[in-house]
Amino acid sequence: MYIAMVSSECAPAAKVGGLADVVHGLARELILRGHAVEAVLPMYDCMRYDQIAGLEKIYADLWVPYYDHHLRTDVFSGRVGGVPCLFIKPYSKDNFFDRGLYYGHADDVARFAFFSRATLEFFYKTGRQPDIIHCHDWQTGLLPVMLYEIYQPLGLERPRVCYTLHNVHHQGITGHHTLNQAGLGAHLMEPAKLGDDVYPDAVNLMKGGIVYANFTTTVSPRYAEEIQHTELGHGLQPTLNAHATKFGGVLNGIDYGSWSPEVDRHIPHNYSGADISGKFADKKALRERLLLQDRFKPIVAVVSRLDPQKGVNLISHAIFFALANNAQFVLLGSGSEPAINQHFQELKAQLNDNPDCHLEIGYDEELAHLIYAGADMLLIPSAFEPCGLTQIIAMKYGAVPVARATGGLADTVFDANHAPAPYAERTGYTFEHFDTAGLESALGRALGLWHKYPRYFHELRLNGMRKDYSWGRSGQDYINIYDHIRVC
Ligand code: ADP
Repeated sequence: MYIAMVSSECAPAAKVGGLADVVHGLARELILRGHAVEAVLPMYDCMRYDQIAGLEKIYADLWVPYYDHHLRTDVFSGRVGGVPCLFIKPYSKDNFFDRGLYYGHADDVARFAFFSRATLEFFYKTGRQPDIIHCHDWQTGLLPVMLYEIYQPLGLERPRVCYTLHNVHHQGITGHHTLNQAGLGAHLMEPAKLGDDVYPDAVNLMKGGIVYANFTTTVSPRYAEEIQHTELGHGLQPTLNAHATKFGGVLNGIDYGSWSPEVDRHIPHNYSGADISGKFADKKALRERLLLQDRFKPIVAVVSRLDPQKGVNLISHAIFFALANNAQFVLLGSGSEPAINQHFQELKAQLNDNPDCHLEIGYDEELAHLIYAGADMLLIPSAFEPCGLTQIIAMKYGAVPVARATGGLADTVFDANHAPAPYAERTGYTFEHFDTAGLESALGRALGLWHKYPRYFHELRLNGMRKDYSWGRSGQDYINIYDHIRVC
């Protein structure tokens, strides 16, 4: 099959969060299975160009329709971690992708609507006919709409669309001018198409993607239930229910080529479940790097975007709870909201001289690897979590997840005391209520086990390390979906 992955992120070149890992990991798995895969991305100025091999211009002067005129656009190709990629680079006074940031601009909807249109225009002009176009998140929600409304009548007939929702908290809700921009008619504002169900007169890009895609997935079975049946759907519940026969949850995998302590190039000591002595050496290395004292204490870590979704208040609370309970605390967090950043900068200043605590505010891929390897526990107290990758990575590195039981966290972390499964299947600690009491009960139990029953804690680590959340299984689920929609 020829599969085009159209996304605003792909690790390791353009990464803000898990979306990047998923696009790259799934693409690699499909390539390993013999499929022809191309990822299509915007050509951001802030990408990690050191992670792109063989970058070259392959198409000049693709004039992409934009309102009543066209924008000159070039297309580049290159390889990102073994995945062939195409990069869309427009030239206009708007500088869509030359702003030093991936997201967070007032015209984000216009930027990514343009990206979606340019991708289709490129397929059309070059005669490419992917069997599957796999779109991701609101940024590409308009693509299936434009495919069926504009490009299929022009002859782009082969592609079928799989659309994956990574987080429905962000839906791309905008005014009807976006339809003008994309060359789509105002009649699409109707409620059965792109008209938003909560805000009258607004266009909802993610809703459009769900309505027009041949199949929509989200990134864990639990989150699929939650967004269909609870307020976590943020208004999409009626649309998901109306299209329930072409909707399902597929648990994300991770790419063990990048995320495995046996082969990880970013950690000083490799190790495996058969011999985890390297993990203790990595714990020492982490302490040295972050100037923590070398004492007989567990390290509780957080590697996260600092966003309300991730439970920033509970993270703040956990710092002091861990320190008061004979543990060390390490945080690597990157925020986009100034107030949250400011809060953590203040905590950092307050705890600066504490030899048991280090808060690193920013994004650092290499340090993240060392933290997973050196930590004993990884805390993920999310308000909601579509899938979550950090708990899956943590388990592979023998760091025991302590997580709120929501979305994909509930599908992957099985409580050491309460899970309805034998001890060998239990992998961490979970809590139900999004409050400090819930957090303290789960983290307190984890710290208690580490201090009082090290043998059982060790077993719990190994249980997680044995789990297989590689793309092998979920890759097959996606191929089944692709096969299914190719014949419908
Ligand atoms: P989300 O996509 O909501 O951010 P996920 O758990 O799905 O959350 O994916 C997070 C990914 O981003 C993981 O690969 C994690 O290691 C990485 N990550 C998150 N924050 C940082 C950071 N500050 N520095 C480095 N990597 C980070």
